[in-house]
Amino acid sequence: MLKGKTALVTGSTSGIGLGIAKALAGQGANIVLNGFGDSEGPKAEIAALGVKVEHHGADMSRAGDIEDMMKFAASRFGRVDVLVNNAGIQHVAKVEDFPVERWDAVIAINLSSAFHTTRLAVPAMREANWGRIINIASAHGLVASAQKSAYVAAKHGIVGFTKSVALETATTGVTCNAICPGWVLTALVQKQIDDRSAREGISLAQAQNELLGEKQPSLQFTTVEQLAGLAVFMCSPAADQVRGVAWQVDGGWTAQ
Ligand code: NAD
Repeated sequence: MLKGKTALVTGSTSGIGLGIAKALAGQGANIVLNGFGDSEGPKAEIAALGVKVEHHGADMSRAGDIEDMMKFAASRFGRVDVLVNNAGIQHVAKVEDFPVERWDAVIAINLSSAFHTTRLAVPAMREANWGRIINIASAHGLVASAQKSAYVAAKHGIVGFTKSVALETATTGVTCNAICPGWVLTALVQKQIDDRSAREGISLAQAQNELLGEKQPSLQFTTVEQLAGLAVFMCSPAADQVRGVAWQVDGGWTAQ
């Protein structure tokens, strides 16, 4: 379905981003990976699917790095057809204790980076009259939790940003949508389970059950593969008129 197209996925050296990159590669798209840590392993996994793959190590908190990455993608593959804004970080603290530097980092990586990639990707998408912008928001883009003020603000922000860009592109073949996962067992969430286990002196299994029980009525984690499946659907012709949605994959979290 995506043969000859190029997908750029931010924060795709692990977790949800890597899963989405693999699924888009499975549909034939060439891939630009981004993110920290080992990139050779993820590159090899994608190359094994028979598509071209590059990695750019842009720090999503820096507008200049993002501009370099978008130029790099255009120079390697012509243009970005599918943009997945996925890079994200978490910091948990009461608002009065929230380190200012962490607030700025969460807003920059989880929200402003999507503005920069999108503003740089949209002109070529408009010219081709086809494009897909998929923003990985969160259940926290729709409802809040205590001690996550920066994350909740950024994720609510990206849901609003998604709607605005969807309206601006509504008469074109470019769509912009958000996916709102509940708990997914990635490094980002494992850290919260580890912290809870240490703080409350309980086992990791207990901490995991508490985390799910508090928020996710299905009591099951959303999987990376389920999110990747939705991203692939959003790239399909069946989703041509899906515009500006914030689609929950959250085991019932936001239905409560
Ligand atoms: P993860 O920690 O497994 O992966 C995050 C990725 O982002 C990694 O590739 C990392 O290298 C990259 N990254 C981090 N900071 C970066 C920066 N400054 N510049 C470039 N890359 C950077 O996390 P994940 O759970 O896969 O999260 C992916 C997205 O999904 C995030 O936006 C997160 O908020 C969102 N999300 C996750 C969950 C969950 O339960 N895991 C739930 C809802 C939403």
